Amino acid sequence: MVKLGSLFPETEGFLIAIQDQVINTRNYKKYILKDPNMQNDSCRKCHRLPETIQHITSACPSLAQTDYTHRHNQVANYVHQKLANKYNLIPNQLLLPYYQYTPKPVLESDSHRMYFDRAILTDKTIHYNRPDITLIDKLNKIVYLIDIAIPNTHNLQKTITEKILKYTELKEEVTRIWKMNKVYIVPLVLSSTGVIPKCLPHSLKLLDHPENSYISMQKAAILNTCRILRKILQEDTSNFDSQRDAHLA
Ligand SMILES: [Zn+2]
Repeated sequence: MVKLGSLFPETEGFLIAIQDQVINTRNYKKYILKDPNMQNDSCRKCHRLPETIQHITSACPSLAQTDYTHRHNQVANYVHQKLANKYNLIPNQLLLPYYQYTPKPVLESDSHRMYFDRAILTDKTIHYNRPDITLIDKLNKIVYLIDIAIPNTHNLQKTITEKILKYTELKEEVTRIWKMNKVYIVPLVLSSTGVIPKCLPHSLKLLDHPENSYISMQKAAILNTCRILRKILQEDTSNFDSQRDAHLA
């Protein structure tokens, strides 16, 4: 199901950083190093769950609304700008690095309309009516409901399935109300450590996105995961410094 897609050179640095930082989690100190000062291994942020590397990278409830959302948004911004440029909603000369880019809620041309994080109004109440990106091909009457997620590696498949279920009702309503020929639910999901599920390149192809753009999404996810690890574990950053950030970006 999962391929450890194209390990770009920086990934090696990332893996080294993970190895360096793993030993600073409380779980590791308590159970592997058997540090007598480590009375319990509860996470220093949520104080509820064991502080493992996986917990910090994508499972801590105290980081969900802040750091994980920021990471999600950085990947979403990248995708949004690429699509907007592809469909002539943003000209080349206005393109920005994704980390400086803020998507507009609505972009429109003769052929396309694109919404960002905007609720879609329907006749009946639909709980999940706000995909990250809604792309409308007006000429061919096709809608793409695009939603992005960056879970732990072992939750990749589950997350993809959840996204499809979540937006099925909206898909049916949009097809009916907007009289569309076709409505696609497009989950764009990759893991917090950059693992790419097989379906991601297919999803990008459906959007006519360059297939290799998953590499940029992977970089954005990994870079942000590194930031989260460093911030939480306050590890000596000499092996993995801000210069590397600049290089990755
Ligand atoms: Zn926690």
